[in-house]
Amino acid sequence: MKGLTDKPSYIIELLEGGVTLEDVIDGHICEQALVEKSAFVVGDLGALMRQHVRWQSVVPRLQPYYPVKSNSSPAVIEVLASLGLGFVCANKAEVSLVLEHGVPPENIILSSVCKQLAHIKHAAKNNIQHLVCENEAELSKISRLHPNAKLLLQLTTEAHAAETSMVFGSSLKSCRHLLEAAKELGVQVVGVTFHIPSSCQDLQQAYTHALSDARCVFDMGMDLGFNMNILDIGGGFTGSEFQLKQVESAVRPLLDAYFPQLSGVQVLAQPGSFYVASTFSLAVSVIGKKVVPRHWDSLAQGENNEDTEFLYYMNEGVYGPFSRKLLGNSIAAPSVHKHVLCAEEAVYPSSLWGPTLDQLDQVVERCLLPELSVGDWLLFSNMGVSGLEEFSCLSSSPQLPVYYTVSTSDWYEMQDAGVALDSAMKNFSMLQYSA
Ligand SMILES: *Cc1c(COP(=O)(O)O)cnc(C)c1O
Repeated sequence: MKGLTDKPSYIIELLEGGVTLEDVIDGHICEQALVEKSAFVVGDLGALMRQHVRWQSVVPRLQPYYPVKSNSSPAVIEVLASLGLGFVCANKAEVSLVLEHGVPPENIILSSVCKQLAHIKHAAKNNIQHLVCENEAELSKISRLHPNAKLLLQLTTEAHAAETSMVFGSSLKSCRHLLEAAKELGVQVVGVTFHIPSSCQDLQQAYTHALSDARCVFDMGMDLGFNMNILDIGGGFTGSEFQLKQVESAVRPLLDAYFPQLSGVQVLAQPGSFYVASTFSLAVSVIGKKVVPRHWDSLAQGENNEDTEFLYYMNEGVYGPFSRKLLGNSIAAPSVHKHVLCAEEAVYPSSLWGPTLDQLDQVVERCLLPELSVGDWLLFSNMGVSGLEEFSCLSSSPQLPVYYTVSTSDWYEMQDAGVALDSAMKNFSMLQYSA
C-alpha cells in the first residue's frame, strides 16, 4: 500500500456483499502481524456521505465549508469536493491542495488570522476573493496585495476566546473601526464570521451573543454602503446528530429573527469534526506491558485484582497520531481487537502509553480493560480529526498506512450524489474486497 504522499493513485477498497469494516481491519492486522506491525488507519469514505446527508437534513440552510485543517487527506478533499462543499483554507498550501482537486475559487475562503504576504498574493492570483480579516494590520496588507478581496470580518466570541485563551477576532467596537478603515481603503466587506467551539457549555447564550453582534456589524456595514450578504457561523459540530440538533435549535430562531431567508443573506458554517471525526479509525498494537501493584499490602494479603493496575505501551503515541492529546484533548478508550467482553470477565484499571517512555507520551490516562498481552491490537475510533499534521498529505513526516474503504451500498449512494471515480476522484482506483 502506498503512502499518502505517493501521488497520484490511491486505492479504495470496495466492500462487497457482507464484508464489513471489521473484516477489513482484521485483514490488515493479519498482514501487519506478518511484517513490521505498523499501526495503520482505516478510513470509511461512506461516513463522509452519511454525515453530509445528515447535515443537509438537519441544517439545510447552512452551507457547509469544510476547514481543510481538520483533515487534509486527499480522499476526504475529493469526496467533499464532489459532494459540492466549499473549503476554508488557512494557508497557501491548503489553497493549492483544494484547487488541485478542482474546487472553484469562489468556493474557497482564506481564513487565517495573520496571513503571510505571499499567501495573500497567491489568493489574489488564483481569484480567491473571500478572505477573513480581523484587524487593521491585516486590512492594510490586503488592500495593498489584493484590492479586490471581499472580506469577512472575524467577530470575537467569548467561547472561542475561552477555549484558546487568546483573543480571536475583533470586538463590535473594533469592527466599526475596521469597517471605516476598509471604506477608506476601498476594500469591500461582505460579511461576518465567528466560531463557537464544541466545548462551549452554553450554546444558547453563545449563539445569542454572536448572532446579535453579527447583526450589528451587518447594520454598521450597510450604513457605510457595503453589500453585506455572507454570515459564517463557524464550526463546533462534534459529529453527533444529537449535538447538531442542539445547535440547530439554538441557531434557527436567531437566524429567523436576525437574518431571515428573505434578507438574501447566505449562511455558511465550517463543520470540520462533523464530517471527518467518525471517518477514520486507528489500529495500534501493544508492544510492552507493566503491572503496577497499587497497594503492596493488600496484594500481600492475597486480595483480588482490583488493586492491580496495568501500564501498556503502544507502537504509536502523542508524537504520532495521538497528537491531539498534546493539544489538551482527551482520547477515548479503545476497544480490544477480537475481544468481546463477557459479563463476568475481570477488567483492570489501565493506562495507555506511546513508545517513547516520555512523561508526556500518555495517550489514555485511565480506562478499564481486560488484561492484554503484548501483540494484541487496540482500535481507536473517531480518529478523523488531525491534531497537528498526521493524515495530512501536506506533512513531510513519515505516514502511517491509510486504507480507504467504502461499502458497495454507500458507493452507489455517493455516485447518485455526484461522486464519480473518473472525473472527481481521478486519483483513485477501486479494488474489490471480498472476504
Ligand atoms: C478548527 C476550526 C473549525 C472546525 O471546527 P470543528 O469544531 O471541528 O467543526 C472551524 N472554524 C475555525 C475558525 C476553526 O479554527
